[in-house]
Amino acid sequence: MNDAERRATTEALFRDVNERIAESAERFDAAETEFVCECSDPNCTHRVAASLAEYEQVRDEATTFLVLPGHEQRDIEKVVEDRGSFRIVDKVHGIVRRTVIRLDPRNRAAPSES
Ligand SMILES: [Zn+2]
Repeated sequence: MNDAERRATTEALFRDVNERIAESAERFDAAETEFVCECSDPNCTHRVAASLAEYEQVRDEATTFLVLPGHEQRDIEKVVEDRGSFRIVDKVHGIVRRTVIRLDPRNRAAPSES
C-alpha cells in the first residue's frame, strides 16, 4: 500500500465511524451531532459539530469529506466549502479518489472489474 492509499484508507475509516454516528443520530432524532474529523491523520481525535443535514450533504458525493479547519491536506484534496466549524474537502488526487470511491460505504459507484 503506498502513502496515498494509506491516507485514503484512514479517511475512509473515519467516514465509516461517522456513518454509524449518523445512523444513531437519525434514530434518536438529534438535530446537531458530533462527527469525527475525516482527515488523513490516523491519530486525529478531533470532533466536528455538524447537523445531520450538513453531514448528508457531505456524503452526497463519494469523494467529499468533513474535516476541521486546518486539517485539509492540500496535496490530495481541495476545500470546496467552508462552514466555519468545519470544511468540506473534495479529493483531487487520483489514487486517493479511486480508493475512497472503492471504499464508499454507500456503494453508489458501479463495481469495477479491476
Ligand atoms: Zn483531523
